Amino acid sequence: MKFENKRQSAEAHEAISTQIRRDIVSMLLEAGSGHSGGPLGTTDIYSVLYFGGFMKYDPSNPDWAERDRFVLSAGHMAPVLYAALANAGMFPREELMTLRKYGTRLQGHPGRDMGLPGIETSSGSLGQGISIAVGMAMSDRLLDKNKRRVYSLTGDGELQEGSVWEAAMSASNFGLDNFCWIIDNNDCQIDGRLRDVMNVYPIDEKCRSFGFDTIVVDGHDFNQLYAAFDRFTENWQKGTGVPTAIVAETKMGKGVSFMEDQYEWHGKPPNAEEAKIALSELD
Ligand SMILES: [Mg+2]
Repeated sequence: MKFENKRQSAEAHEAISTQIRRDIVSMLLEAGSGHSGGPLGTTDIYSVLYFGGFMKYDPSNPDWAERDRFVLSAGHMAPVLYAALANAGMFPREELMTLRKYGTRLQGHPGRDMGLPGIETSSGSLGQGISIAVGMAMSDRLLDKNKRRVYSLTGDGELQEGSVWEAAMSASNFGLDNFCWIIDNNDCQIDGRLRDVMNVYPIDEKCRSFGFDTIVVDGHDFNQLYAAFDRFTENWQKGTGVPTAIVAETKMGKGVSFMEDQYEWHGKPPNAEEAKIALSELD
């Protein structure tokens, strides 16, 4: 079953998110490696972005020139992007089970040269995707008459990369109101809490000082996510010259009780027993 891309109820998004989360758990079990926490934690953002009528894409014509662009800067969170794209009809859902297998188009980090529909760029080296996305937004402004929106998602740990802030500075310097920066703020990174590794707080004030219209939302509240993406769309349509940042407060591993808010699940797949429990909780 393929989900539609239009404004829909919170209940409908709940069902979409549950399907995506089930896919993530199944893919990771089958792969035997990969990242569970971030993908499950950001699922509701994809639910609204790809199935709430915000991302403009056409599964029957994935290379459509006027499509919006999405760049997953935190490339290790690829399973959620793959699951969202498959459920949008960009490629067959069966292919999800090839994640990380030899020769697959679903590499552990997205690879543009794999030819998977919906993957705009290779990513995974942290701090780089956002710069690529800002470049795309600039090119759209200069060459293509501002027809597209460009979205990029970074992790909160990724904010420790200096190049992220160069990209942010450029986005406001060049007035890129067609650029939406989504920050997954789960207060977890591979080795622990953000404050214990390298404090990046206050994130919202940093974004504001870098010139972004900054909105802090509960990343699991569909209404708040709709309001934030609506405000971005408004900034773009009105031509405010101000880029938008959405700081989404999320729970790593959301939906699976024993993974929730546990940074140990950053880069670990479930084993068979854990996957069974996870899928029963996501029923
Ligand atoms: Mg994080």
